[in-house]
Amino acid sequence: MSSPSENTLKIGIVGFGPFAQFLAKTMIKQGHSITATSRSDYSNLCTQMGISFFRNMNEFLESDNDVILFCTSILSLSQVISTIPFNFMKKPALFADVLSVKEHPRDLMLQVLPHESDVLCTHPMFGPDSGKHGWNGLSFMYDKIRIRNEDICSSFLQIFASEGCKMMEMTCEEHDKSAARTQFVTHFIGRLLGQMDIERTPIDTLGFQKLVEVKESTMRDSLDLFGGLFIHNRFAKEELRKLELAFETTKQQLRKGEDEKQEPSIQTLQLTEQEVNL
Ligand code: NAP
Repeated sequence: MSSPSENTLKIGIVGFGPFAQFLAKTMIKQGHSITATSRSDYSNLCTQMGISFFRNMNEFLESDNDVILFCTSILSLSQVISTIPFNFMKKPALFADVLSVKEHPRDLMLQVLPHESDVLCTHPMFGPDSGKHGWNGLSFMYDKIRIRNEDICSSFLQIFASEGCKMMEMTCEEHDKSAARTQFVTHFIGRLLGQMDIERTPIDTLGFQKLVEVKESTMRDSLDLFGGLFIHNRFAKEELRKLELAFETTKQQLRKGEDEKQEPSIQTLQLTEQEVNL
């Protein structure tokens, strides 16, 4: 791996869906050179954005990138990475990912990637919605798993630091533990509200407006993302169990309150009505 010239990188993106497109705009603005490959054909969009799009994975790998960035869905990474012919690469690169779970891509990359390549796990804690007005103050998590070329790695991290992101170095395990309690729970509740079809009304409280925002932003993300947050984060199952328990406990509290508030006269009246019906 060479040093990046004047801190600009050649970045090859694998998986050019909504999140990759969102990231690429800022990378291009900063002067980095982007190539991409994806299951679907993004040739037209890439031409408009000034990106070289390769339908053929071998040609993509031959395009001599400093960084290969995995932006596939969580659920498809295993299949995508296992079919990449790494022998077509001209030089070792930094492999990074932006998946919303971290232990899973870390383990896959360590299993499958060439040993001479560097590995960086990252999770920008924002998306096209929350980051649409810029990334200043938004958190960016990263874990340097296997880094020999510090120059390339720090130039890549600089993409986010220079936009004002709060740079959070932590292990993939710490990330997954916290994300199960925060991001997975948010997505689960957003999806629940989506199932209930909650909608805005003319008399919304501020609290309800926030609930609608949670519903709308989580429902805009793909079902693959939601599924991946659960299936590939080993801490999410425990959070789901806690959610179920909390639902039952809260329901019981409500029932208990209802029973205690029943006035004797009403109960007597109901009994009397029942007796009458008998
Ligand atoms: P996504 O639905 O999680 O992923 C879409 C990407 O996955 C597309 O590039 C799609 O390729 C690819 N893909 C899906 N199934 C595939 C398959 N069977 N084979 C090959 N490729 C497949 O949506 P996203 O929002 O763009 O997220 C991309 C990644 O970024 C995810 O890992 C997500 O966790 C992470 N992330 C997302 C956000 C966010 O706010 N959206 C924030 C931080 C991190 P095609 O488009 O070519 O079909």
